[in-house]
Amino acid sequence: MDEVLVIGAGLAGTIVANELCSDFKVTIIDRGPSGKYQEPNLTETGKSFGQVTTFCYGEGGSTNLWHNGLIEIPEKDIVDPSFKRFYLSLSKWTEKAARLLGFEGDYRDEKEAIAKTVSIEKDAIDSILVPEKKGKLNLDRKNLFLSYSFVRQICRDGDEYLVTIQNCDGAKEYRFKHIVLAAGGLNTPNIVNDIFLKRQSTIGFIDHPMGFVGKIRVKAKYVSDFEKMVSLKGSTYEARLGIRFNYNGLQHIVYFRPCYSIKNNLNIQRFKSKLGCSVGLGLIRAACNFKVFHPDVLFEIYKKLFGKFPKTKTFSTWVVFEQKSHKKSTIQESRGGLTVNWNLDELKDYSEALKELKKKLGPYTDHVSIVEKKLEDWLWSAAHYSGSVENTLLVKNVQLKGFENVFIADSSVISEHSYVNTGLTIAKIALEVVNRIKSS
Ligand SMILES: Cc1cc2nc3c(=O)[nH]c(=O)nc-3n(C[C@H](O)[C@H](O)[C@H](O)COP(=O)(O)OP(=O)(O)OC[C@H]3O[C@@H](n4cnc5c(N)ncnc54)[C@H](O)[C@@H]3O)c2cc1C
Repeated sequence: MDEVLVIGAGLAGTIVANELCSDFKVTIIDRGPSGKYQEPNLTETGKSFGQVTTFCYGEGGSTNLWHNGLIEIPEKDIVDPSFKRFYLSLSKWTEKAARLLGFEGDYRDEKEAIAKTVSIEKDAIDSILVPEKKGKLNLDRKNLFLSYSFVRQICRDGDEYLVTIQNCDGAKEYRFKHIVLAAGGLNTPNIVNDIFLKRQSTIGFIDHPMGFVGKIRVKAKYVSDFEKMVSLKGSTYEARLGIRFNYNGLQHIVYFRPCYSIKNNLNIQRFKSKLGCSVGLGLIRAACNFKVFHPDVLFEIYKKLFGKFPKTKTFSTWVVFEQKSHKKSTIQESRGGLTVNWNLDELKDYSEALKELKKKLGPYTDHVSIVEKKLEDWLWSAAHYSGSVENTLLVKNVQLKGFENVFIADSSVISEHSYVNTGLTIAKIALEVVNRIKSS
């Protein structure tokens, strides 16, 4: 049996390891900690990722935090021909990837049916499907070996790799035929640089700036359409529908969430996001804040208690913006921590895009109040760190150039991601890597 090493036990690594372990001897290593997850040691020198943790370490990786929202990158949004070809070739994995991420049924059929349920902006509707079966991905521990450790060094030896792995008991050398990098969009590039290319480099990445950047009051005859867009119950999932809009070649989407007041209040918006992502003691602490009595927050609490929002014609507009410019956002690793510089060069384009959105929503609304000043303050990271390994370092999009049988299975190789949460695409890439290893 060939030996496979998978580095990183998050979304990508778990899929690769689980899918390979019946045919290969699989070792998966994760930086840990063991048995729980941990926030990264992060220094932000550019735009802050936000109030809440946007990725984490430990078995399951960021799936410990995620919401399982599944959505595909619209093919027409991809500009780079090589990435487009690759992305199209992944479509054979969509259904399996969705299933592995908890979706029951036929993902594409459900999505098509859902798009027909609203009568407005038909050509611009997209949807994200959130399976009822939620949460962290689990490793098939019976059939593979998990170790909480780091790679120190990798040397080629014929058609194998000699890998020095360090854990709390010291460093030891192991031999592997295949290596899969799956440490996440912000960590895999450091492994590529430090361990394989032995170069010091700051690398670009893209993310999705997102935020509740406005409120609308909907005309009575369109309220039921907007209610459907907020939440549509499928047999085993919930769908959220959004309206696509664009400006200057960047594609964005707006989702809607019921609220009480038409006034945009940044402090309340920040508090709501913190409350929504808090658990345990953090949740109790957040709940002791006087801001819980703001009517918009009470709306959210009502939803938590009764499973639906109170009736309203007022909705927050929650926008996910596309980023395309990789180079200016940088990542550096130093002494167990990451220093990231997240650059938002596109702010002017986003402001113009919001003007387009305002026009688009005009026919359906009595009032539109979009944030016009200090837009940057309203935006935070959607936790989709992509495109951090340059295309020029890759052969056939997932193999590291110059290193046969070394593959990258995570978002580092997604060079464009439109406005789309990347979990489903990562799962498809992981399955493609599995396929390449099985057929090698
Ligand atoms: C609150 C929240 C909600 C989200 N909701 C959604 C959603 O609805 N839909 C969606 O598509 N996406 C969502 N995401 C994003 C999604 O979780 C991530 O895109 C996805 O988990 C990334 O998968 P990955 O395998 O690339 O990285 P991760 O899941 O982050 O895994 C990386 C793993 O590598 C390990 N590692 C890192 N460095 C090393 C090293 N040097 N050596 C060994 N191991 C290492 C880490 O410990 C970690 O386990 C959300 C994220 C957050 C934070």
